[in-house]
Amino acid sequence: MSLRLAKRVLLESDKRLLWKLFRLMGLKAAWSVQKHKARLKRGEYFPPFLYISVINSCNLRCQGCWVDVAHKQQRIEPEAFHRIIREAQAEGNVFFGIVGGEPFMHADLLDMLAEHPDCYFQIFTNGHFITPEVARRIRELGNITPLISVEGNQIVSDERRGRAGVYDKTLSGIQNCLNEKIFTGVCTSLCQSNIDDLLRESWVDRLVEMGVMYTWFHVYRPMGPNSSPELCLTPEQQLRARQFVVEMRVKKPIIIVDAYFDGEGQALCPAATGITHHINPWGDIEPCPIIQFATESIHEPGRTLKQKINGSAFLRGFRELAADTTRGCLVLERPDLLADLIEKHGARDVTARQTALAELKAMTVRTSQFNPQQQVPEKSWMYRLAKRFWFNDFGVYRHKDHQRESAPAVLARGAVSPGPGVNSPELVLLEVPTSSPVTPNA
Ligand code: SF4
Repeated sequence: MSLRLAKRVLLESDKRLLWKLFRLMGLKAAWSVQKHKARLKRGEYFPPFLYISVINSCNLRCQGCWVDVAHKQQRIEPEAFHRIIREAQAEGNVFFGIVGGEPFMHADLLDMLAEHPDCYFQIFTNGHFITPEVARRIRELGNITPLISVEGNQIVSDERRGRAGVYDKTLSGIQNCLNEKIFTGVCTSLCQSNIDDLLRESWVDRLVEMGVMYTWFHVYRPMGPNSSPELCLTPEQQLRARQFVVEMRVKKPIIIVDAYFDGEGQALCPAATGITHHINPWGDIEPCPIIQFATESIHEPGRTLKQKINGSAFLRGFRELAADTTRGCLVLERPDLLADLIEKHGARDVTARQTALAELKAMTVRTSQFNPQQQVPEKSWMYRLAKRFWFNDFGVYRHKDHQRESAPAVLARGAVSPGPGVNSPELVLLEVPTSSPVTPNA
């Protein structure tokens, strides 16, 4: 399979773009993770992969979106953007995730990215603004990979994303990229309405036939003012998704990304391990995109980005609390503890709607990616190797006593109780199947 994948990548991508990808992501980004590990050993901290939401506006209205897309437009302006990139580069970073809103609604986006030919950018987009001209410019620049979201078949996609014609426009954005031989990815936030259509071999085959080089199945997280919890996957479905990813990695010539498991199939939180944090369109530095609270801002004068992130008691407190509590997602599993942490540090609600704390306190406890009874180790030697060196927990869960039980399971057996205002665990979500064909991790 690795050979078929290598052949596809070599034959179907523009060679100049491929060389840039290899030089920046294969060599320099890997080196930035080594630097991160060295910093951790020195007791210092700076995430090697920063995610930057450059704008809050979006042309779509997706179900369950937590970004204030309908509020007054807010952008990261070019000067601030260049400062972030330069300061992160000084720490050895080269990879940046560009998020929104819809990043292509930022009129200066491509000009901003053009200023940093030695960095590599992954743009999370709905693809609607990727016209043939935009795709041509992306190819010229050579340091961008678009990750285009498809949220279901035509009917589901249009319903999930709030208007007709969404699916067709997204597919034409993908095609425009592929026509230019750009290294292109497709992502999906798996939920009740799309799992049966997209978590299928036939969908992965279709992506391969189209020329898509990588895919990423996220799992829907119920956040924000209209969180649509009915879309959440059950633990059985989450397990199915993980099994599918592991199987497809040894079967199909396409890269499949995930952010929540190490090579042994143990769950992790990328914000707790410190590999990433997020900057919102107002410049606030958040633990991750769904935790919309901050004590530091990129706009505060007098300190470097490294000093702000390294010195932030709130960010450090988050990483420690998350690692102490669960290998899964603290937000989903113990929103009460997160709310306490926010109050303890006086972290600001950095949303435009200013209701994030109330939303957090009203959350229902849920299971997340952590399923200690049924871990699914990688079958592919390639992913195992890559994860061993560049994507693992970096030792943050060492010596923690939650390796065998998820936080909701602890709550369910009454060992501790959730804080006031937080709804008790939904037992229906805790019924983890015990007769699955998955090889349990020793
Ligand atoms: S806190 Fe949850 S949503 Fe945020 S990075 Fe960690 S696992 Fe993901």
